[in-house]
Amino acid sequence: MSLTKYQQNDLTDQEAAPAIKTARDRLKEREMSMCMFGSGGTCCRVCNMGPCQIIDRVDSMIGVCGATSDTVVAQNFARAIGVGVSRQVEEAREMVKAFLATARGESPYAIHDEQRLTELARHFDIDPTATNKNDLALIVGERLLAEFGNQNDDLALMRVAPEKRRQIWQELGVMPRGLDREVVELMHRTHMGVDQEFANIIRQASRCALADGWGASRLTGWLTDIMFPAPPPDSFREGGLREDEINILVYSQGPLAIEALLTMVDDAEIKPLLDNSRARGINLTAGSIGEQETMLLTGAIEVMVVSGSCIMPSISKIAQSFHTHLVTCSSSLRMAGAELLELVGPKAQDNARTILKMAIAAFPGRGERGSTAGPAGDKKAVAPWAGPIDSSGLTRQIKKGNIRGIAMVIGCDNYRHQNNGHLLMAERLLKNNILVLTNGCAAESLAKNGMLQGDRTKEIVGPKLRSACLDLGLEPILPLGTCIDSSRLLAIAASLLEEGLGNDLADLPLAVTVPAWTSEKIVATGQCLVASGINAFFRELPIAGSSKVANYLQDSCQDEYGARWQIEEDPDKLAHKLIDLIENKRPGLVKTCGK
Ligand code: SF4
Repeated sequence: MSLTKYQQNDLTDQEAAPAIKTARDRLKEREMSMCMFGSGGTCCRVCNMGPCQIIDRVDSMIGVCGATSDTVVAQNFARAIGVGVSRQVEEAREMVKAFLATARGESPYAIHDEQRLTELARHFDIDPTATNKNDLALIVGERLLAEFGNQNDDLALMRVAPEKRRQIWQELGVMPRGLDREVVELMHRTHMGVDQEFANIIRQASRCALADGWGASRLTGWLTDIMFPAPPPDSFREGGLREDEINILVYSQGPLAIEALLTMVDDAEIKPLLDNSRARGINLTAGSIGEQETMLLTGAIEVMVVSGSCIMPSISKIAQSFHTHLVTCSSSLRMAGAELLELVGPKAQDNARTILKMAIAAFPGRGERGSTAGPAGDKKAVAPWAGPIDSSGLTRQIKKGNIRGIAMVIGCDNYRHQNNGHLLMAERLLKNNILVLTNGCAAESLAKNGMLQGDRTKEIVGPKLRSACLDLGLEPILPLGTCIDSSRLLAIAASLLEEGLGNDLADLPLAVTVPAWTSEKIVATGQCLVASGINAFFRELPIAGSSKVANYLQDSCQDEYGARWQIEEDPDKLAHKLIDLIENKRPGLVKTCGK
């Protein structure tokens, strides 16, 4: 059994299955350019007098209700964040429920990392020594559950953020309260005719985004570390699909679905079925948002399991064209042709067994296409980096200047962009001695281009970064997991501050860059990082329709948070801007830490 990373094969969609259309084909056939109002953020459809298309500073082109471009752009920006955060909050809720079930002995998982559990307990002022690990997990889990519905106090999870940042948030009135509350408040404010002041709308968007990054996503990462030990590094192989193995494609944001399947692979009912099949084993694999159609088109997938988000409605039809079973493991994600088999809660293991049986039974039905498509390389791939972080070593190398800074390259595939922005960005940063963190679809894209196999990066990495990585035993480009794990950058940043590298997060030579994106979650991540003092370099953001909103987010929010958005369509220029920012932070850093 091995957990592998998928590397998209070289087949084009047309070569793979000429009769089936993919997103690339649909985009081409639409023959429409992007809507000016949509891409600028000035299309409003929050009430039934509209939809209204609005033009900045043109009085005759305000909304029927009188809404200006400032209100509408801020509302659209905020709504994207609200939707993105709601996704992460739901994922976090599932994790807490699974954690509580584990503490009660009602799940197949266990409390593996007691040290992480103890750290989490201390953040909530719970005495970790007073009880055994399962009882402690129960107390911590109940406390975490209360964070969702918290009404009055500040979110206790925010205590993991550095003191100075918390003061800034208090002064600006953006300290989050309950995880659910901030999403509801944001949706309420953007109802027709409620909040009309763009700055106030964006303030709530910041609060909601902070609740995600430091709250929901952070706790998901924390509980993942406590319950699921990192798989052995040598279990990660390049090239996702196996010609001679049963391929189960798992698209889930959090770890619960894949972990449920992993617990049943060696089950007494599964083993003999597998032994009697012609397959060499079971291969659980994943892919990026843009790869889901292409991977199905290989005809080499026995079952595709979906949960979470970012599942294209088109895959239902594609799966039906092959022997592939489609399974949704979330009652929130129903789609045509998909059987519901939940992989959380009391039925998780029975359903995982059913899925594995389904995949074994489907394997003989794989057609000729499935036997020829898909690479089967066994080369090792870099395993996701779950820490612990040697923050002292990292700080030492940043102070010495061998690591000039740290940049997180994230974001989704987007068929609208022909060039590979993630690859270009990572190459430029590594050359300039900037340590690269990545996750989710961006990590998939980099893996596809050989950037997570070590050899390729060796040729690119600047000499200083190379020596620092040798010293620290780190790869110069580190995959952190899924898009939920963007919050791990915040943990790393906080640990650098604890090591004395600067007085505030805004002092640090850190940045996030998104050369392409699809999901609204990424907008929430960007705003959380900006509000945390970390600059966000995006290739596009639909805010240009209001000069006031664009100026605020790209310029004057720097005065409040010490960071801002930088939007630049040309990925090469975007990389240069990021490198300049990192280098401009360094003199201040030397002054702060006295070296
Ligand atoms: Fe038009 Fe105002 Fe309704 Fe928006 S809220 S759709 S701008 S009338």
